[in-house]
Amino acid sequence: MSTPSQAKPGLHPRNPHRFRYDFAALLKSYPELKVFLIETPRGDTSINFANAKAVKALNRALLAHFYKLKDWDIPEGYLCPPIPGRADYIHHLADILAETHQGIIPTGARVKALDIGTGASVIYPIIGHREYGWSFVASEFDPTAVKAAEDLLHNNPDLERRIEVRQQRFKTNIFKGVVQDHEVYDMTLCNPPFYSSAKAAQAANQRKNRNLKRPVGKTKRNFGGQDHELWFPGGERAFVENIIRESKDLGERCLWFSALISDQDHLPKLQHVLQEVGADTHLVREMAQGQKSSRLLVWSHQSASDRQQWVKRRWGKA
Ligand code: SAH
Repeated sequence: MSTPSQAKPGLHPRNPHRFRYDFAALLKSYPELKVFLIETPRGDTSINFANAKAVKALNRALLAHFYKLKDWDIPEGYLCPPIPGRADYIHHLADILAETHQGIIPTGARVKALDIGTGASVIYPIIGHREYGWSFVASEFDPTAVKAAEDLLHNNPDLERRIEVRQQRFKTNIFKGVVQDHEVYDMTLCNPPFYSSAKAAQAANQRKNRNLKRPVGKTKRNFGGQDHELWFPGGERAFVENIIRESKDLGERCLWFSALISDQDHLPKLQHVLQEVGADTHLVREMAQGQKSSRLLVWSHQSASDRQQWVKRRWGKA
């Protein structure tokens, strides 16, 4: 068995997944993982990351072990999120909230977040609630994903009380049709569809399969993903641009907006859009997970003094 002591470089210091997987502990929480364990040529215990079933079983084990989740599942072929990277987003966001709150992370259900495109896995709300007690509205366009998300919450009633899934009926809309007139949010988050076309998503998948040395003819994604989950006309840049433009109208009712940006070349254009709509401030947080780097783009339409008032009003004294 591998020892859990070796930290993975780049992950947030509070991320519980920054150590190598402790398979002995994971097996205790999810014994069904056992059939997927393999020994690597170096003699370590691992799973075959090219096998979608093994990846799903690892996710189940991680979610049961770290987040006390019961019966986590996603429909066949849907995106199976790598947990360590998703957790990193939540912890970085917590830091940003703390920076407006005298260094103290605001916790509990009074802190309200909106997850745009939560997927069948509801992964950000699960981690955000379990780590910090935050409550969530989670929007999703795909009806099958919405149903799966609702079923999952139904099996975990403590989460169901704090996470509400709402269907977005128009793919090009973000807040419209999801956020109600009287609502306020402390933050919004989003992992946007990345690719700009179904063809680009498929080509990337084939490259990945070659790298994982998957046998010819087996073209399934190891992390799954329906094509429309993974692409949007104009890709990540266009999706985030939609968020920025719509965020203007919600500016007084939300403290921080944020989005995960995988391609750093998209940043200058998005920063330009932020300027164009007159965002008061924005910041970029670098994140790294092994070889893969990504970043959070975070912005607010409120002035620094309005943000301070907001924090006092909603979270009280730090
Ligand atoms: N948050 C999940 C899923 C990200 S994939 C994760 O990190 O694993 C992006 C998701 O956005 C997909 O589930 C897709 O169906 C959804 N989506 C696409 N357009 C949307 C829109 N306008 N509003 C809400 N969700 C949308």
